[in-house]
Amino acid sequence: MDAATAIYPGSFDPITNGHLDILNRAREVFPRVVVAVANDPGKAVLFPAETRLGLVRCVLKEIGADDVEAVGFDGLLAEFARTIGARALIRGLRAVTDFEYELQMALANRRLDPDLETVFLMAEARHCFLSSSLIKEVARYGGDVSPFVPRCVADALRDAFRSSGC
Ligand code: ADP
Repeated sequence: MDAATAIYPGSFDPITNGHLDILNRAREVFPRVVVAVANDPGKAVLFPAETRLGLVRCVLKEIGADDVEAVGFDGLLAEFARTIGARALIRGLRAVTDFEYELQMALANRRLDPDLETVFLMAEARHCFLSSSLIKEVARYGGDVSPFVPRCVADALRDAFRSSGC
């Protein structure tokens, strides 16, 4: 177990500036941060797992974050965290609406692995309203998402909704 390694898991469907805000805060605190993209996040997704992971990698390149690894994972997060030697699990907290779900997950993960500590970080106020769902909704209706997502994500959203004809 490595106290220096943190895992930042999520669906990242797609990664937004809100995710990046949390990731950059985690990088300030932990020498090694691994972004873990859930292959099957248990909710309906727009982008398949390989695309979501590819977009995370593209964004890491775009911001020059060579220190951050991005990987896909299946199955129990606590198990996967153990395999990469993570000691901290990063989650972002927005409004109170996130709290109940996050509390439940944090307590469940603590039961599964008492050595894995969930660490909650808050994004800057201007990123607090951002969610992947909101961004997809804006993109679906042809709105400009470029203020809210990195460039490769904005391009991918444009292509996804252009090709689906939505
Ligand atoms: P999941 O399906 O696991 O919730 P998400 O990709 O939706 O995956 O979110 C991953 C993590 O990033 C969650 O902890 C979520 O609260 C956090 N997050 C996403 N967007 C923001 C944001 N704008 N501000 C703060 N945290 C955020």
